[in-house]
Amino acid sequence: MENLEILYSSQKIQERLEQLANQLDEDYKGKTITVLCVMRGACFFAVELTLKMKTDIRYEFIEISSYGNNTSSSGSVTLRTNIRDSIKGKDVLIVEDIVDTGRSMTYLLEHLKQYEPNSIKICVLADKKERREFEVPIDYVAFDIPNRFVVGFGFDAGEKYRNLPYIAALKED
Ligand code: 5GP
Ligand code: MG
Repeated sequence: MENLEILYSSQKIQERLEQLANQLDEDYKGKTITVLCVMRGACFFAVELTLKMKTDIRYEFIEISSYGNNTSSSGSVTLRTNIRDSIKGKDVLIVEDIVDTGRSMTYLLEHLKQYEPNSIKICVLADKKERREFEVPIDYVAFDIPNRFVVGFGFDAGEKYRNLPYIAALKED
């Protein structure tokens, strides 16, 4: 597609996810993880990552929204769908597509506190450090990415492009 510039090929993503999966297996040895997948963007990452893991995993899903259909942040975060089961006393691994300004993750951490998990760690597919406005304690990062709007492997532009097997930057024109 001529308006896309591939940043990470499908093979590159799979290789990096394999490394991350091994690291997570090592760090959570003997434990059960509650993977909290942040819809919708992170679903692809959460599935592909955890299929490579051996650790005992339970899944929770939450949907928050900050971007709407634009390619720039709207400035407010809303909760669309909350978690289903109790995470009290659980070791929660938040799996998110990207931390950009850090606004969404800050909101999510604050929201989850009330449920009293035993631990919370953060695993993101992409870290857009340059754009950070809110400090976020990220534990696992697949890729540090430049300040470009990306699509593919779960990332959308107005719900389009999510199912591309690679991560690409959208060329503006
Ligand atoms: P933050 O709250 O950290 O500013 O933004 C996080 C959310 O903005 C992400 O969960 C994602 O939905 C959206 N976002 C930020 N950067 C990008 C990007 O480059 N591409 C896409 N598709 N979404 C992005
Ligand atoms: Mg998101």
